[in-house]
Amino acid sequence: MLTKDKKTYDVDFIKSQFPALNRKVWDKPLCYLDSAASMQKPKMVLDSIVNNYSVNYSNVHRGLHFLSEQATISYENSRVNVSKFLNASESEIIFTSGATAAINLIAYSWGNTSLKKDDEIILTIAEHHANFVPWQNLAHSKEAKLRIAYFNPDDEFDIEEIKKLATDKTKLIAFPHVSNVLGTIFPVKEICQFAKEIGAISFVDGCQGAIHFGVDVKNLGCDFYCFSGHKLYGPTGVGVLYGNYEILDKIPPFLYGGDMIDEVKINKTTFADPPLKFEAGTPPIVPAIVLGVAIDWVNTIGLDKIFEHEKKVIEYGFEKLDSINGVNIFGKNKNKAGVISFVMDCAHSHDIATIVDREGVAVRAGHHCAQPLMEAFNLVSTTRASVGSYTSFSDFDRLADSLIKVKKIFGDL
Ligand code: PMP
Repeated sequence: MLTKDKKTYDVDFIKSQFPALNRKVWDKPLCYLDSAASMQKPKMVLDSIVNNYSVNYSNVHRGLHFLSEQATISYENSRVNVSKFLNASESEIIFTSGATAAINLIAYSWGNTSLKKDDEIILTIAEHHANFVPWQNLAHSKEAKLRIAYFNPDDEFDIEEIKKLATDKTKLIAFPHVSNVLGTIFPVKEICQFAKEIGAISFVDGCQGAIHFGVDVKNLGCDFYCFSGHKLYGPTGVGVLYGNYEILDKIPPFLYGGDMIDEVKINKTTFADPPLKFEAGTPPIVPAIVLGVAIDWVNTIGLDKIFEHEKKVIEYGFEKLDSINGVNIFGKNKNKAGVISFVMDCAHSHDIATIVDREGVAVRAGHHCAQPLMEAFNLVSTTRASVGSYTSFSDFDRLADSLIKVKKIFGDL
């Protein structure tokens, strides 16, 4: 149990499950505000990695011996777990090496066979490069057009920005569930509904969504949804692609090789049904199994409770940072999830991150793999503080105190 009385949200008790959060850096207790880049791992997940590599390890789908059967059962059970987590069917859950691989898979497999010259793809200005460059590359190679939906970072995203770009040539609308820079929560259901109405497919980059709130892909009505295991308290090297079965069934494989075939003859190969059709070669066996354990861990608290807590922490952090003279929050819309980005009048974000690091505070600084967004708002970089289930108000007190130190160093006090 992760909360002692199962009623109140006990952040200290949750934090105690994370060995990394109980260590020191620069001789100070670690204050980890970089969860959007990667979430720390609870002991239950770490133990499962050791266990699955030490005594339960074997390749999957090909051995008839005991260990291989056990590993296959655990791997497929994890798929069931992920499918319940997203309210999808098991045949619609593809294990990839990460969200980036999931997006590239569809850009190649769907894109190369379904997109034609002069077709159009709509993206938003807030894409992570992972959900921008593959579509841009596809558009260039097909002589198709990219159309970009802009919005004011201080406001909610307005679906009209997408509607006004749509034409009868729009074949795909790809967008984030949550912006990794602004924390803006996108109206996923409405956008997917609109995509359906105009006969386009929808691709949701759920990297910063599925880690904060429950996702029901059927209710959202999306054709594709992806996330990375390492951002959901799980291991690196595994990601999830949900795809609408009807589309998965029609599009060709992306990678060819072992484990994705039905039958191989010298002159012709037939392929396995989804999802195995898209899982060529030895998959990320242990990371995929342990992702299921990470989901179990999350479920013992409940994403709804986690998000309720994170919202309060974000609100607190927002007020705290906003009250410091010379700190300017990028994305003043308070209805945000997971992240707060800011710039300071007196210092570059790299200097800020380096100085607060010496105080034990880990934040991210840079363009956050969102250069189009930075360019659109004349920024080179921002500093970003991001939260998880284990983040407390005091983490933002520590950040605020260390920002005062930044101001002192740069003569702004
Ligand atoms: N999209 C978003 C919104 C992200 O935040 C990230 C990771 N920073 C990615 C895609 C790419 O994820 P990965 O590097 O795990 O493939």
